[in-house]
This record gives sequence, C-alpha cells and structure tokens, in this order.
Amino acid sequence: MKINSAGFIQVFKSRWIYKILAAFVAVVLIAGGAHAVAMRLSIAAAFERHMGRMGVNMQNMMSGSGTRGVNLYESFMAAVNDSLWISALIAFIVSVLAALLISRLMTRPIQRLTHASRAIAGGDYSHRIPPDEISSDELGLLAESFNGMAEKLQSIEVMRKQLIGDISHELRTPLTAIKGSMEGLMDGVLPAEKSTYQQIYRETDRLQRLVEDLQELTRVDSSALRLNRKAVKISDLVQAVVVPLENTFAMKGVALKSRVESGLPQLVVDSDRIQQVLHNLLGNALHFTPENGHVVLEVRRDGNAVLFSVQDDGIGIAPEHLPHIFERFYRADKSRSRAAGGGSGIGLTIAKSLVEAHGGKLWAESAGKNQGSTFLFTIPVE
Ligand code: ADP
Repeated sequence: MKINSAGFIQVFKSRWIYKILAAFVAVVLIAGGAHAVAMRLSIAAAFERHMGRMGVNMQNMMSGSGTRGVNLYESFMAAVNDSLWISALIAFIVSVLAALLISRLMTRPIQRLTHASRAIAGGDYSHRIPPDEISSDELGLLAESFNGMAEKLQSIEVMRKQLIGDISHELRTPLTAIKGSMEGLMDGVLPAEKSTYQQIYRETDRLQRLVEDLQELTRVDSSALRLNRKAVKISDLVQAVVVPLENTFAMKGVALKSRVESGLPQLVVDSDRIQQVLHNLLGNALHFTPENGHVVLEVRRDGNAVLFSVQDDGIGIAPEHLPHIFERFYRADKSRSRAAGGGSGIGLTIAKSLVEAHGGKLWAESAGKNQGSTFLFTIPVE
C-alpha cells in the first residue's frame, strides 16, 4: 500500500489520541537520549575515579594477577553503577522538564476553552477562540462548536435586549395616551363624554391586542405550537376567510377577489392556523390599499406544493424595507400605521412561523413604493 506522507500527517494532526501517543513516545525518547548522553559523558570520569581510589596504575593492570583482576572488575562495576545513577537522575530531570513542556503545550487549547467559557458564563458573549488558535483535531472541533454556541448566545442576547426595548416602546405609546386622557378628565381639560371614553377604549384595545400578539409570538417561537392537522378542501379554507371579510373590504371601497385553481388536492393542515395566516395577509392588504384599490387572493399548484398569493395594488413596499418586514415589530412606515391604529409589526412574524411550522415558505414581492405588493406562501402537498 502506498503511504501518502501528507495524508498521514493530516490524520495524525486531526486525532488527539495520536498526539497523546506522540507525546509519550517523545518523552521516552528524550529520557533515553538524555540517559545515553549522560552515561557516555560520565562513565570515563567515574571509571578513572575508581581506579585512582584503588591506587592501581596501568602497569599493574597489564600484569594481570588474579586479585588485581577481581579489583579491576569491581572498580569497573562501581564506575558503571555510578554512571548509571548519575545518568538516570539526569534523564529523570530532563524527561520531567520535557513532559512538563509538552503537557503545557497540549493543555493550552483546553485552558483557552476554560477561559473562554468562564468569560461567556460571566456575560461576555463577545468572547471567541481566535481562528488561528484552532487546531484541526477533536479539540479544534470543540473550539469551533464553542465559537458557534457563543455566536448563537450573543445573537439571542441582542434579540432579547431588542425585544425588551421594542415591547417597552410599544407599551409606552398607548399607556401615555391613556394617562394623558385620564389626566385631562381629572383636570377637567377633556370633556367627560363618549368621544373621550372611546379614545381611551381604543388605546386599551391596542394594548390588549399587543399582549395577545406577544403571547402568540411566544407560542410560535417556543415550538409549543401544536398543529391540529386535518385534511381540508382548499376552497372551503378560502371561503372561511374571504366571506367574513367581504363586508369590511366593501366598507373601505376595496375590491376583494379570490381565485382557486380547479383540481387542487386537499391539504393536511391546521385549518385554523392557515386561516389565521390568510386573515393576516388579507387584513394587511386591506390596511395598506387605498379606496378603489384591488386585492386578489389566488391559489394554484406549484410543483409538490400549493401556492397561495395575496396581491394588492396598494402602497407597496420600498426595496430597503422588503427584507425586514418579517422581523418582529418592523413597520415600514411607523408613524402611518400608528396613526391609523395599525398593528404592532408582529403579524407577519407570526404568519411566517405558522407557515414554516407546516413545512412551507412565506415571502413578499413588491416593485417598490406605490407599486402594490404580493405576499406568497407555499404549503407542501402530502
Ligand atoms: P402590522 O401589524 O404593522 O401590519 P405586520 O407584521 O403584519 O405588522 O407587517 C409589518 C409591516 O410590513 C407593516 O407595518 C408594513 O410596513 C409592511 N406590510 C405588510 N403588508 C403590507 C402590504 N400589503 N402592503 C404594504 N406594506 C405591507
């Protein structure tokens, strides 16, 4: 089998177990090497020392009597022993130092992870492990998923703060209006008559709708939403939404038409939830289309799905707003929708979550301001 060295190094670098193995081997080799070198350097001196202690000179050694041979052997063994002890001690010290250095190097990524997770636990969600410090082994994977988790936590934190800011802002407007009206009534500046109470009623109604929307948003966001799916005829679904709205459209002078392609299959959906989505889209179309405008609800087959579209010739959506309208509390024209008693900018966020819970997609198209808009969503056919 051909050994590819680059591939081998890659496999080696990508597995923590091989690195531990290599660390052990390195320490053993360093200890062995240090032992050999220390012995090589110390043996001659040890030998000479023992010879000197015996008082034996080179001539006597050469003459070779039995006692002298034994003494020579003992001196040699003592010298080797000395040298062994010295080199073992040196090898031990060198290998401990090498092991310390290697373990420091190997545990550095773990220390970084510990440090980073402490920073996150302390509320510093911006903390990351720098990419150039991420290895290609299992610890590197752990560091990458850690960074991913930190990214997610940071965006949740940003969203949380934004949501609290948005909610307080939304609550402040009607509350200020109610408080102002009540103060006016108490001071006698405002007359205690029907129109004043109606004004207060409208603001409390707005507050109630906001709280209901927020509750609904929490439900769809937390996946606590349970779909009660049943087979339904699309024409029944459309009728259930369009008929009750006909009067409201007629009162504003906006024409409402619905077209359902023939031969469409039944959909297995939570009928109430799909009606809620259609109601929201038609309600928006009515809200953002002036008198004498037109709104068309169309349903047709689109591959493996059924495509619903709500088209209006109303105020349209400018390109800079189009990507944001599904974000919570986003309103293209804040002053207008408030003045008109409009919603809080949560409706489309909820509608999108409901369609996605059915496995579909919801999006918007508009050629620009005053060019009308079309909201489309798909529901897969089972
Ligand atoms: P809202 O309660 O304000 O209607 P939505 O989430 O339903 O909140 O809509 C968000 C924003 O999207 C609206 O404030 C408006 O700017 C824009 N929008 C939605 N539908 C239409 C439409 N049919 N025509 C123009 N703009 C629309």
